[in-house]
Amino acid sequence: MFKKILIANRGEIACRIMRTAQRMGIKTVAVYSEADANALHVEMADEAVLIGPPSAAESYLDIKKVLAAVAQTGADAVHPGYGFLSENAAFAKALKKAGVAFIGPGTHAITVMGDKIESKKLAVTAGVNTVPGDGGAVKNAAEAVRVAKKIGYPVMLKASAGGGGKGMRVARNDDECREGLMRAQGEAATAFGDDRVFVEKYIENPRHIEIQILADGAGNTVYLHERECSIQRRHQKVIEEAPSAFLDPDTRRAMGEQAVVLARAVKYQSAGTVEFIVDGNRNFYFLEMNTRLQVEHPVTEKITGLDLVEWMFRIAAGENLPFTQSQIPLQGWAIEARIYAENPLRNFLPSSGRLIRYSPPRQDDTLRVDTGVEEGGEISIHYDPMIAKVISYGANREEATKRMSVALDEFYIRGVAHNIGFLAALMAHPRFIEGRISTDLIAEEYPDGFHAQDLAPENPKLLVAVASAVHCAYQERAALISGQIAGRTRVVAGDWVVMVGAESSAVSVVMDEGSYRITLGRETLVVETAWKLGEPLFRGHLDGTPFCLQVERTAIAYRLTHGGAETDVLVMHPRAAELQALMLEKTPTDTSKSLLSPMPGLLVSVAVSEGQDIKAGDELAVVEAMKMENVLRSERDATVAAIKAVPGDTLAVDQIIMEFE
Ligand code: ADP
Repeated sequence: MFKKILIANRGEIACRIMRTAQRMGIKTVAVYSEADANALHVEMADEAVLIGPPSAAESYLDIKKVLAAVAQTGADAVHPGYGFLSENAAFAKALKKAGVAFIGPGTHAITVMGDKIESKKLAVTAGVNTVPGDGGAVKNAAEAVRVAKKIGYPVMLKASAGGGGKGMRVARNDDECREGLMRAQGEAATAFGDDRVFVEKYIENPRHIEIQILADGAGNTVYLHERECSIQRRHQKVIEEAPSAFLDPDTRRAMGEQAVVLARAVKYQSAGTVEFIVDGNRNFYFLEMNTRLQVEHPVTEKITGLDLVEWMFRIAAGENLPFTQSQIPLQGWAIEARIYAENPLRNFLPSSGRLIRYSPPRQDDTLRVDTGVEEGGEISIHYDPMIAKVISYGANREEATKRMSVALDEFYIRGVAHNIGFLAALMAHPRFIEGRISTDLIAEEYPDGFHAQDLAPENPKLLVAVASAVHCAYQERAALISGQIAGRTRVVAGDWVVMVGAESSAVSVVMDEGSYRITLGRETLVVETAWKLGEPLFRGHLDGTPFCLQVERTAIAYRLTHGGAETDVLVMHPRAAELQALMLEKTPTDTSKSLLSPMPGLLVSVAVSEGQDIKAGDELAVVEAMKMENVLRSERDATVAAIKAVPGDTLAVDQIIMEFE
C-alpha cells in the first residue's frame, strides 16, 4: 500500500479522501491556494504545500505546481478527487512519467470517456444502449436541422467536450435547432475550447440513473448498483439517492451489466460511473461515463457498506477485488443533499463570506456529513459554492427522507446564505415523497424560481409549542434568579398569549423535568426534550414525532428556524398582547430607486445606458461570483438615471450599480 498520498483537491472531497487514508495509516499531503491557507483540508493533512494564488487556474488546475508539490513531499500517489484535474489525461500521464501512481483509471479510459462523441461511438460498438442519434459532430445549422428531422423533435444539442451541464440545448423545431446549435457551440468554445456539437433525441421527463462500478487490474469488474440523481437544477444534481425507487431487479441487472461491458471495453481500472438516462417505460440509454469519484458516491457507500476511496487506493496499489458481483450488498436506503452557499430566494445567487456559526448535524449510523469547512471559515468567491453534503440512511426511503428532514433542521449556519430551505422543501414535496420524480421536477414545480411560499409547509402548532416551552424555561430562570422559586425538581407553569404572524393563541404551559404540556384551547400538546436554555438547537418529540428547531432570542421575540424558514414568535403576558400590532410592524426595503449588487463579485457587463427606458425583466448587468455569471434584471419599468459602476469593478454586497429616475 502507498505510504503517502497527495490529494490534489480542496473542500469536502479532500477531507473525505484524507479520512480514509488516515484510517488506513497512510500519510496525507494537502495542496492549497492562498485563499485556502486556513481551510479544513490543510489543517487535516500531515503536510501541506502552498501552490499559488486563489484563482484555480493558477493553483488547483496548474499541473506543474501540483507535480512540484508531489516531488517536494515525496508522495507516492495522488488522488485527484472530482473536478479540477480528475479527468485530465495529461496530468495522469505526467504522474506516470514521474513514477507516481494516479489514483484513477488509465489515460486511455480518461481520454475516450472525456469526449461524448467518442464515448458514444464506443458504447455503440460495445452493444450498450445509446440515445437515438448517430452521435457525429454537425458542421452547420443546415446539417443540424437535417439530423434533427431524421431523429425527430424534440432533440438535444450537446457539446462533445461538455461537462457540468454546459453546452446543452433542447430544440423542438427547426428554428430552435439552428439557434440551439449556435448557442451550444458558443458555450462549448468558451468553456472547453472545443466547439464540436452533436444531436440526439431529447428524452422527455427522464430520470437520471447511474451505475457505480469498480474494476481492478486483473479484469474483475463489478457494479455497486445504482444511484438516482433526477433531482437537478439546470442539469446539475441537487439530491441523489440509492437505490432508485424506479428500478426493478431486472432493469437494475441489465443496466449494471451494460455498465460493466462498457468499463471492460476501455480496460477500466478504478472506481467509475456510467450514467444513463431512463424514460417512463424503463428504457435506458447511455449518457456518459465519469472516470473519477462522484460527488454523490456516499449513498452507494451507505447501501453497500464499501468505502469507495479505500478501493480506489487498493486498486491503484495493485490489489485485486476480493468479492464477486453476487457478494455486493444492497441494504437500506440512502439520500444525499448538497448544501450550497447560495440563496434560493434570490434566484440561487451564490453567497460568500465568513461562517459566523457553523455546526453540522451530529453523525450516527443514520446520518453522515461530509464537510469541508469549519466555523469561522471563509466561503470564497473563487470556487464551487458547495460547502457540505448530508447523507441520511434508513431501512427504507421513507425513513431516509424523514431523517434527512430532521438533519436539515439540525444544520446550523449563520453568516452566509444557504439552500437548506430549498432542500427541506424538496424533502417535503409530495412528488418527492411519492417518488414521482424526473430531471424536470424543479423546473416544473418552481417555474418562476423558488419563493418564500414554496418553503416546506410549517406546522404552526409546533411553533407555538416550542416557543411556549422556551418562554417557560426563560421564566423559570428569571424566577430562580429573583429568588421566587428554589431547588430543581418542581413544576413551573404559566399562561401566555403566543403570536405567530397575525395568529394569536392563548396557551397554558406546565413544565415538568424535560417535558412540557401545552394546552391550546381544548387540545394538549406534549413536547419531550433534553434541551437546555441557551442551546441553539431545540431537539425534541412533539406527541412522539421527532423534530429539531433552531432557536434564537431576539429583542422582542423568539426566532424559530424550521424547514429553512425563519419565524418570529412572540410570547406575551396576556395584558401585553395589545402591543402585538406595533411590535410586528415591518417596513420593506425600497429597491425601486437603485440596482444593488446582490453579492460580492465582479461586474462583467452593463447592458443599459444612462437615460435609457427599461422594462421589467430587462437585463441590466451581469455580475460574476463563484465562477457563475448572474444576470441582474429590472424588477419594474423605469428610466436609468445614472450608472455608478463600470465593467471590471469589484463590487461589494449592496453596492449601487445604477440608479433609476
Ligand atoms: P454533463 O456532462 O454536462 O453533466 P450529461 O450528458 O451527463 O452532461 O447530462 C446532464 C443532464 O442533462 C442529465 O442528467 C439529464 O438531466 C440531461 N440530459 C442529457 N442528455 C439528455 C437527453 N438526451 N434527453 C434528456 N435529457 C438529457
